[in-house]
Amino acid sequence: MTNPPSPTSEIARIGSYHAHIYYRTPEQRAQAEHLRTQIAERFSVQLGRWRDMVVGPHAAPMFQVAFATESFPIFVPWLMLNRENLTILLHPNSGQPRRDHQVHAVWFGEVLPIMNPEHLPETSSDDETVTPNTTPTA
Ligand code: ZN
Repeated sequence: MTNPPSPTSEIARIGSYHAHIYYRTPEQRAQAEHLRTQIAERFSVQLGRWRDMVVGPHAAPMFQVAFATESFPIFVPWLMLNRENLTILLHPNSGQPRRDHQVHAVWFGEVLPIMNPEHLPETSSDDETVTPNTTPTA
């Protein structure tokens, strides 16, 4: 009998997280701008560019927030309380991009499709390091 892997060793594969914040209407874009400003003022995270044009695998316009595992216990509950009705995809970066988006992901609000998941590699050795925003600008 071999022991199952410990939960801690599985979790250790997660190098960072992404929150993808989606918007589709002008009202949601304005809400997303407000949320982005609040995030920039409060958290040491990495804010991605505005993606007003849909870029795969994402099914709607969005921006990305990359954050370190240490930020999870503060940033994620804060998002829960402040996302209003925006749809958010939260996924780990565990070296399995396809599973991280399709299987390991958590959705806040509406669940959107992941477009062309076959374009996501099954495994990745890229250690995505988060460069926290130390001079926040929204
Ligand atoms: Zn992502």
